[in-house]
Amino acid sequence: MQLVFATNNLNKLKEVQSLIPIHVQLLSLKDIGCFEDVPETQLTIEGNAVQKAEYIKEHYGFDCFADDTGLEVEALNGEPGVFSARYAGDQRNADDNTNKLLKNLENQSNRKAQFKTVIALHLNGKLETFTGFCKGNITSERHGVGGFGYDPVFKAEGYNQTFAEITLDEKNSIGHRGKAVNKLISFLKSIQD
Ligand code: IMP
Repeated sequence: MQLVFATNNLNKLKEVQSLIPIHVQLLSLKDIGCFEDVPETQLTIEGNAVQKAEYIKEHYGFDCFADDTGLEVEALNGEPGVFSARYAGDQRNADDNTNKLLKNLENQSNRKAQFKTVIALHLNGKLETFTGFCKGNITSERHGVGGFGYDPVFKAEGYNQTFAEITLDEKNSIGHRGKAVNKLISFLKSIQD
């Protein structure tokens, strides 16, 4: 089976590729000649994932899946949420976003947050969604150099290290995207049986 993963984020591609079974050949947007910005203009994480998957099917004709992720911070009423990529502005800069997050949580004792990933799959004319959460806390400063995005300031529940300090395998096994991808994989396996 060939499936497009509708992302330009090489970190995500690497994370997901390491989880997807070998009988599924994963194609990137580059592989199908898509070099445009795929629209993500919805107001929910689910909405954006579905929008991206439908756009690729409609404009490029490939069965595909797309993911959208947000960081929901309890003390900020769920922000940045669907706006996680553009939290500090349209430059979509991870450093700027993280600085804004740390500033907004200055002197805040409630550091609870969760990552939420929704994967939308467009396959054989049907749409399915798969959701994964990872609960944790926002640290008061950055730790570690691995990962991407908000990883240096996010510690998963029960962990003393941030996502930027643990291995990709560890992050996949406890992380939001790993959980959503595992649901996607179970589904793909179930329809092949
Ligand atoms: P999107 O899914 O690419 O739209 O991600 C939204 C925002 O969340 C971006 O700023 C990403 O850098 C950030 N993000 C997505 N996944 C992760 C993750 O696994 N760790 C840290 N930040 C993430």
